[in-house]
Parts: sequence; C-alpha cells; structure tokens
Amino acid sequence: MGKKISFFNFSINNILFKDQPFLDQARIRLLFFGFPLVFVALGAIFLSVYFQGQMMLAYTAAGLMACVAILFKMLTYRPNWRLVSHLLLCAGTVVNMSVVYFTVQTVNIITVQVIILVIVFSYYMLGQTGGLVYSLLNTIPVLLFMIVEFTKGYVIGIKPDRIDQSTIIITLFANFILLIFIHSHFYTAFLKNIKQLKDSAKEQEELNGKLNMAIEKAEKSTHAKSEFLSTMSHEIRTPLNAVIGMSNLLMMGNPRNDQKENLEILRFSANNLLAVVNDVLDFNKIESGKLVFENIRFNLVELMHSICGASILKAEEKGLMFKLDIDSTLKNKVLFGDPTRITQIIYNLVSNAIKFTAHGNVWVRVTCFEDRHNTVTVKFSIKDTGIGIEEHNLSTIFEPFTQESLTTTRQYGGTGLGLAIVKRLLDLQGLHMDVSSKMGKGSEFSFAMEFPVSTEMLADKPVVAAVESPTAESAGLACIRMLIAEDNMVNVMLMKKLLSKWKITPTIAENGMRAVELMQYGNFDIILMDLQMPVMNGLDAAMEIRKMADPKKSGIPIIALTASALMDIKEKIYEAGMNDYVSKPFKPDELLEKIQHLVQVA
Ligand code: ADP
Repeated sequence: MGKKISFFNFSINNILFKDQPFLDQARIRLLFFGFPLVFVALGAIFLSVYFQGQMMLAYTAAGLMACVAILFKMLTYRPNWRLVSHLLLCAGTVVNMSVVYFTVQTVNIITVQVIILVIVFSYYMLGQTGGLVYSLLNTIPVLLFMIVEFTKGYVIGIKPDRIDQSTIIITLFANFILLIFIHSHFYTAFLKNIKQLKDSAKEQEELNGKLNMAIEKAEKSTHAKSEFLSTMSHEIRTPLNAVIGMSNLLMMGNPRNDQKENLEILRFSANNLLAVVNDVLDFNKIESGKLVFENIRFNLVELMHSICGASILKAEEKGLMFKLDIDSTLKNKVLFGDPTRITQIIYNLVSNAIKFTAHGNVWVRVTCFEDRHNTVTVKFSIKDTGIGIEEHNLSTIFEPFTQESLTTTRQYGGTGLGLAIVKRLLDLQGLHMDVSSKMGKGSEFSFAMEFPVSTEMLADKPVVAAVESPTAESAGLACIRMLIAEDNMVNVMLMKKLLSKWKITPTIAENGMRAVELMQYGNFDIILMDLQMPVMNGLDAAMEIRKMADPKKSGIPIIALTASALMDIKEKIYEAGMNDYVSKPFKPDELLEKIQHLVQVA
C-alpha cells in the first residue's frame, strides 16, 4: 500500500497490492473491468432510446454513463473500492427508483434484472450488511409500487416513456452479461481463495513440523547439557574428594605450623570448589524437574543448630556477632518436612549474610507464628548489617549465575547460583521469599513455611559435655576386620592411609560382585561400600549380602560411601538394607564415629 498513483493511470497493476487479501483484489478487478462493460451497455441503450425520441430515458442513460466514467477515474486514481461501490450502488438505486416511479412508471423484466444485479453486486462488494441495505432499498419501493399499481392507485401525473422492444433486448442482454461477469469473477476469486487457504495450511503444517523439530532439538540439547553437567560434576568430584581426603590425612599427621597453614588453604579451596560443583549439580537437578521433596520427621531446633554450627565459627572468624533465636515452642516438636532442602535454603542465606557483612551482626530468627492443632507455620528470617542490595537489583539476584555487580564478583567471588537455588526450592513448594535491603545498612531475607506436626514429642535431652573425638584405641577398633568395596584406586589408597591411623587394615574388593564373593568365604565385621562401581554396584551388592543364609553375614553392618551430593540417594541406600552412609569427601571423625557405633551395636 501507499504507492503513489498518477492521475492518468489506467493500469490495473497500479491499483492492486500484493499484501491485499485475495477477495479485495477480486473486487477491484470486478470494478475495473466491469465499468467499461457497463459504459458500453449504457452507450447502446442511450443510442437506442435517443433515436426513438425517449428523452427522459436518454438523459438517465447519459447521466449514468458520466457517473460510471467518474467512478472509473476515482478507482484508477484513488483505489478505494468500498467507496466506489457505495457511490455506484447509490446511483443505481436512484436511477432504478426514478425509472420505476417517474420515467417509465412500470415494473418490467428490466427492473427485476436490475434489482438482481444490485443484490448480487452489493453482497459481493460490501458483504452482509451492505448487501442487505441496498437489496431492501431497491426491492421495497418496487414492491410498494406494484401494490399501488395493482390497486389502481394514483402514482404520478407525468406521461411515462414507453420502452420499445429493441431497448428491452439491449438492456436485458447487457444485464445478463453483467450478471454472468460478476458471478464468474467471484467464482474464480472464491476458488483462488480456497487454494490460497490450502497452500497456507500446507505452509502452516510445514512450519509446525519445523517447530516441532526445533523443540525436539532444544529438548535434546537441554538433556545433553544436563547430562554433561552431571557427568562433569561427578568427574570433578572424584579427584576433588581425593584432594580433600589427602589434605585431611596430612592435617592428621601433625604437620609443621607453616605446612598446616598451607594445608588449611588447600582444604578450604578444595571445599569451596566442591561447594560450587554441588551447586551446579543441584541447580541442574532442580531445572530438569527431577527434584522430589522428602517428608520425614525432624526437629527444627536441632536442625537449625546443626546448620548454623559451622556458620557461627565462620562469623566469629570475621569478628561478627552471630545470633540464633529459635522460638521455644518448637523445642520438643517433631515436624514433617524435607530437612535437606531446608538446610540448603538456610545455609545459602546464612552464608551470604556472613559473606556480605564486614562489621556488625548476623541474626537468624525462627519464629512460630501460627501453632494449630496439627500444623505449625514457621517464619525464617536471616538479617545482616552488611553491604545491602540496590532496590532495582532485588529481583535480579534470584536469577541463575547473576550477582549484583561485577564488583561483587571480583570482591566476594561466588557463582551466583545460591539464591537461584533457594528461590526455585521455595517456588516448587509454592512459597515466597521477602527481601528488604538498604545499601550500606544491611539486608533481610525471610519466608514462611508450614509443617505438619507429629503427635510424638521429643524428650528433653540431657546436656552432654563435648567430648574429644574418639581415637582408634579408645574405640577398640584396632582389630576389626573391614571390607571396602571401591573401584577408584586413589580413593582406596586414601582410605588405607586413613584407616592405618586407626590401625585398621582393610580388605579391598574392586567391585560389588567381588565384595559379595569375599563375604561368602571370609569373615568381616563391617563393610564400607562405594555405590558406583563396575560389574555390580553397591546397592545390588548390599542386597545380595542381606540375602545370605548365615545371619552373621547377612546382618553385617554396611556403610555406603556416596559421591552424590543429591539426597534422594539416601532413600535408596536404606532400601538396599544398608545401615548408614557417609558422603565423600567424608570427615574422618564422622566416619570413625559411625564405624564405632555400628561395630559396637553389632
Ligand atoms: P553468590 O553468593 O554466589 O554471588 P547468590 O545467588 O547467593 O550468589 O547471590 C547473588 C547475589 O546477591 C550476590 O552476588 C550478592 O550480590 C547479592 N546478595 C545475596 N545475599 C546478600 C546479602 N545478604 N547482602 C548483600 N548482597 C547479597
């Protein structure tokens, strides 16, 4: 559209536009080719009536010819087909009425034909409403005229023209041609339109096919990405476990003070890297929709103490005051929920609070603000007096891999995944995080969570004085017979070195199958079982052992060694009949405690 058209344009091509609907193009063509046809027909009628001296009819025909010529020019200069159609139909209606009521004063076959022409033309050109209006405008007065004439009423006092046979033939002929022309034109346009629809449906189908392929490709690549991430993370975790394990071992070997410092740095960095890898793994798991929330019993007060335990030390190291306030009504309550995910949420928020605060305090509050019969609603709030967050960044910090600014990245490090994980974990449970922050003054992150309450109550625990971690000798582990199922040689070496400090010499099975075989022929007190092994994995091996006929063998304590940071593995471990688990890289004290506990129980 918007093409400039010269006043002297007589070409159809200049008034048709590519982006016009097909039917509109057909309408313009109909007017363009129809006008000359009508003009010629009117010319013939004019000559016929003029030579017979019927001047009223001659003037009417001449007037119509002029009208057609003007409308044709309008169409080729300013191609507004709707306006041109209206003008033509108005002129036609006026002429029809004047012929019936004034010039000829009768209704004959020509009148009927003209009415049909008007009906067809108005419907095709203007659609339902226009068609109906012009049809009624032409039929009602003519019908009225016929009724009046039939009842011999008085019509008009002027002598009418009498049309002779030749004029009738010319007019009928011209009108028939016009009727055929209009119909055939629209029929062609109609067919073309259907074809166009079919073509576009085909195009649509092709596009849909392409779209589906693109979606499939995107899904595949997302899947490949998450597979890649989890394989990579796993591959990184394995050597990292060795690094952390080795540094633990070296720390236990009474290093010199300068060595101790270096080892601390080594262990700290490796632990940091492990946290990053775990974050990536976790985020990946949440994003791929594989996360299932647990619903197990736990005590929130105990959980909060264990989450904040390490953080308190970190805060103290930075000279911050760390306050942990827990509503006393929660003390003896046993709740149902997912402690792992709660830990993840609180730990991330508390770590950030400590990380982004240089002076002042970090305040963790757990308040029970609704205590009903069988549920409690708990509000968690983590407040700090740190650097604060700009108002316009309050929503973006929850995006994955997003930090408040480049300065944050440079100064504090981090991946920008922590809050993304927290937000998704809350979103998945239909919960909302509130954040308020003032630059330079501090931030507060808070959310409320509802927990079903178990009918059982926790008994008050006697306060036990902190005890030194047990030594091998004090635990009496020196002569226990241990079987380790582990395929990774670095890990085996690490375990051997660690166990040698407790005077334990383990037997090694390089896969689950070998562990089952060794169990059949040998006698052991405890098994440490890796989960991912070739030939037979740890879960299957544990199930095989639990099926053994000898109750001493089938009842042997088994501790799973898991490299997976993901907690859904826990359930599988217990389902396979194992007694406990330690996550790699395990803390030596924790492992020792678990071995000691299980061996003594057995
Ligand atoms: P990371 O801690 O790895 O940078 P997060 O997703 O945990 O990633 O946090 C995203 C960003 O939000 C941080 O980089 C920091 O800019 C901002 N932020 C989060 N918690 C705090 C806080 N307590 N005080 C100030 N800024 C914070």
